[in-house]
Amino acid sequence: MDLGLKGKVALVTGAGQGIGKASALALAEEGCNVAICDINQETMEQAAEEIEAKGEVLAVYADVTKSEETDNFVAQAAEKFGRIDILVNNAGTGRLSDLMELPEEEFRYNMDLMFFGLIRCSKAVIPHMREQGWGRIINISSIFGKQPGGLVDYDAIKAAVIMFTKDLANYLAKDNILVNAVCPGPIRTLLWEGPGQLGDQLGGMLGMSSQEAITWFAEQNIPLGHHGDPEDIANMVAFLASEKAKFITGQAINVDGGMVKVCV
Ligand code: NAD
Repeated sequence: MDLGLKGKVALVTGAGQGIGKASALALAEEGCNVAICDINQETMEQAAEEIEAKGEVLAVYADVTKSEETDNFVAQAAEKFGRIDILVNNAGTGRLSDLMELPEEEFRYNMDLMFFGLIRCSKAVIPHMREQGWGRIINISSIFGKQPGGLVDYDAIKAAVIMFTKDLANYLAKDNILVNAVCPGPIRTLLWEGPGQLGDQLGGMLGMSSQEAITWFAEQNIPLGHHGDPEDIANMVAFLASEKAKFITGQAINVDGGMVKVCV
């Protein structure tokens, strides 16, 4: 299927690895010029090299918690490519958290990263999209924005992302800017497999290795019995970015191996 994305300009935040990198690669594969940002210079440059094999790329160090840096990212992308068509708000993190032990500063930082960061980037691209009368904003939320997953701060923040997505979709519909959220279930990235990350955290609680805990979690909780791959999310991102999705806005679409049990 030709998604009709050739020549579009796509921005992806937190694209040095994982879901962001896979999304940037999928969009480049479809013919987009891609601008990526991250706070990890090394992984960002490696990702940029891989993307370059498929199309034009711009990599800019930018922390989405800092508006000067997100504004600079968007300005550099507009300067290099002449327009901005697609924004994928992906930068984020996720750890099991206990309400009574979670420091308020950490909760606030995560809110700044995964909620206000997304608002900052959206506000920076909207004038470009309005001028063109075409745009796509895709927010990476989580199924834990729909049902609790044991990450107290994260669950609340990802729920806020879904509601913001729906409000922004209404606000921008007249400008032909479509706004949707993708809600991934558990996806095999360093968020699960990295040192001290979810696999290690869960393994510590269950007395298992990280890999055993990841397998145990999937068998207990995911009807398909395994984690998804970053490309499973990237494929949905590319579809939502495309002209094929021209009547879809304000949605929060699960890509989760059947894990969500509520009707939202
Ligand atoms: P990841 O940790 O592999 O990648 C996250 C990327 O974001 C990294 O490259 C990191 O350097 C970057 N980043 C972190 N803070 C940043 C900042 N302040 N500014 C710019 N970049 C920053 O994680 P992932 O699994 O690929 O997750 C990507 C998104 O998907 C996150 O929003 C996450 O919450 C969401 N998500 C992941 C899963 C999963 O199971 N992996 C499930 C649901 C939702």
